Parts: sequence; structure tokens; C-alpha cells
Amino acid sequence: MPTFKAVVIDKTEAAQSVRLADFDAKDLMDGDVDVRPEWSTVNYKDGLALTGKAPVVRRFPMIAGIDFAGTVESSSHPGWRAGDQVILNGWGLGETHLGAYAQKARVKGDWLVRLPASMAARDAMAIGTAGYTAMLAVMALERDGITPARGAVVVTGAAGGVGSVAVALLAKLGYAVTASTGRPAEAPYLKELGAAEVIDRKELSGQPRPLAKERWAGGIDTVGSATLANVLSMTRYGGSVAACGLAGGMDLPVTVAPFILRGVSLRGIDSVMCALPLRQEAWRRLETDLDRGKMATMTNEIALADVIDAGRRIVEGQVRGRIVVKIA
Ligand code: NDP
Repeated sequence: MPTFKAVVIDKTEAAQSVRLADFDAKDLMDGDVDVRPEWSTVNYKDGLALTGKAPVVRRFPMIAGIDFAGTVESSSHPGWRAGDQVILNGWGLGETHLGAYAQKARVKGDWLVRLPASMAARDAMAIGTAGYTAMLAVMALERDGITPARGAVVVTGAAGGVGSVAVALLAKLGYAVTASTGRPAEAPYLKELGAAEVIDRKELSGQPRPLAKERWAGGIDTVGSATLANVLSMTRYGGSVAACGLAGGMDLPVTVAPFILRGVSLRGIDSVMCALPLRQEAWRRLETDLDRGKMATMTNEIALADVIDAGRRIVEGQVRGRIVVKIA
């Protein structure tokens, strides 16, 4: 394949541009495994990269796309051979290394996770980096001893990708989920995913107090800023909050009060450089702990050519659930 289709981001002094283009295979970066990506997704970070709203992309030209599922075409890595089905999340894909929205990718074999046996490549990318991050966040709460018996868990940005999967996972594991959303019209969708209660995100976006009434044992926050500060101030004694996003801002206007007076823990979640054993565990858990029927209700499929528009919509907060991208 001398050239292949790819969504390419370029930058001149004047501006950043993005287009579906023919990319020359000889310009691929170093790697020991060639993969044919079959499915990808549109995550919030993809939206930031495609629109240029944040400096996600560190080299130009860049093929966008931070994750894919596909088939190995050739490999000089001992762990992989032609025909293996693989998943890649992060490791700089679409940021420092040519990315996923392409008919061909050359990557490091050490970055790959085997596609779980009962999942099709499309299933894996319906989950995508958003869903795998939600799983990492749930696992972090479990490590902190937050069991369903401890009380409710709040999920912020609940109608988004990470949020939707977090709600579905927690509900299936038996937690009472409080879903916070700015889109009240999505309340039936969130209840369908398993939320016990849906609250307006305005309840969490006001000026945070050092401590507020205790409402939940744990939280998964995708919003950051005042929202995360309010979630922490409302977390019960000994609770834990997993922070994974910044859809509302990168700052954190919090005091030490929740930590030193209520023993609350704040756990950081990073999906990009996360160690391989934790990734493998997360994908194993996603195979068993996520209701595939619920995934179907939260997933919309688009073609490679539609990725650029979807990137704009996700940073504008207009996307519900997950977008899966058909590359083949
Ligand atoms: P989505 O856009 O799908 O979801 C984000 C949700 O946040 C929106 O749907 C909306 O939910 C809410 N939201 C958006 N803007 C605001 C705002 N200004 N104030 C309050 N809430 C807002 O994105 P993803 O689910 O893909 O990602 C969510 C976040 O997690 C992003 O910041 C992303 O960068 C981060 N992330 C981090 C990862 C990591 O490794 N740490 C990996 C993956 C994602 P609603 O309409 O329900 O209120």
C-alpha cells in the first residue's frame, strides 16, 4: 500500500488545518508492528486535537486518532504475528506518534493489548479510550475500598463518553449511581444505563465550599475545576474520588479540608502511559463487567470522513455517549 487514507492535521505559521488525505506509507514513523486499524473512536482529546483547541498534537503533519482496534499485518516483535487482533490506547498515538484515523499504522508492539476473545474490534472501539478510562477509574475506587455497601458514587459529565461507560459499569457492579449532567433531556438515557438518580450539573458548578453536606462514598469526575472541588467537598468520610477529565477546566479550586478532616482520597487516572498489566486487567474487566446491550444504546457509528465534524461536536459538548469510527 504505497499510500493510504488518513485524517491529517497540519500546521503553518498562520493556522492549523485538518483534512482526509492520501498519506505516503514511506512517511510512517518507526515501529516493529504494522497494523491495519479497522475501528477507532472520537474521544474528547481527539476533538481537542482535530479543532486545535488545545496543544495535543506535538509534531506535524500528524495523523489524528488516539486509539484503534485492528489486525496485525506484519511484525518483528516477539509478542505479535500477522493476523493477531489488537487494541491500542494512548502511548502518544495522535499526539507524538502518527495516529489511528488511518488505513495503516506502524507502532511499537509493547503498546498493544490483545483484543479480548469475546469482543469484536468494533465492540472494543465502542468502549474506546473513554470506556477503558472509566474502567481504570472504577478499579481505582475499588482499590480504595469503595464497595457498593459504602454508599452512592457520583459520576460527572455523565452523558459523555467516559461518564456513560462509568455509569453502566458501576450500575452493573451494584453501585447506586448519581449521574450529574448539564443535559436534563438525557435523564431517561442515564436511567436506562443504570443511574439511580440524575442531578443537574449546576448543583456541582457553584463556588465550592471547603466542606459541604456528605452525599456520596465515591466519585468519578470527568469535568475538573469547580465541579471536582464540589464533588470532593461532598464526599463522605473515608471516601475516594477518581479524577480523569477536564471538560469544565483544568484548575482545581479546592481546600485541604476534605483530605485532612474527612480522610477523602483523590486518585489521578491516566490512560495514556498506564502500565501494561493495569491495561490488560482493565480490558479483561471490560469483557465481563460491561453490559454490551447498554453499549449499543450509547454508540453511534460514523465513517472516517465524518471524524472532523465529530471532533468539533465533542468539544462543544454535543455528543451523547460514544462514537465509533469505521475505518475499513
Ligand atoms: P465527552 O465530551 O464525551 O464528555 C464530557 C462531558 O462533560 C460532556 O458530555 C458533558 O456532560 C460534560 N461537560 C462538557 N463541558 C462541560 C463544562 N463546561 N462544564 C461541565 N461539564 C461539562 O468527553 P469524554 O467522555 O471522551 O472525556 C471526558 C473527559 O475525560 C475529557 O476531559 C477528556 O480529556 C478526559 N479523558 C481523560 C483520560 C485520561 O487518561 N485521564 C482519558 C479519556 C478522557 P453532560 O452533558 O452530561 O453534562
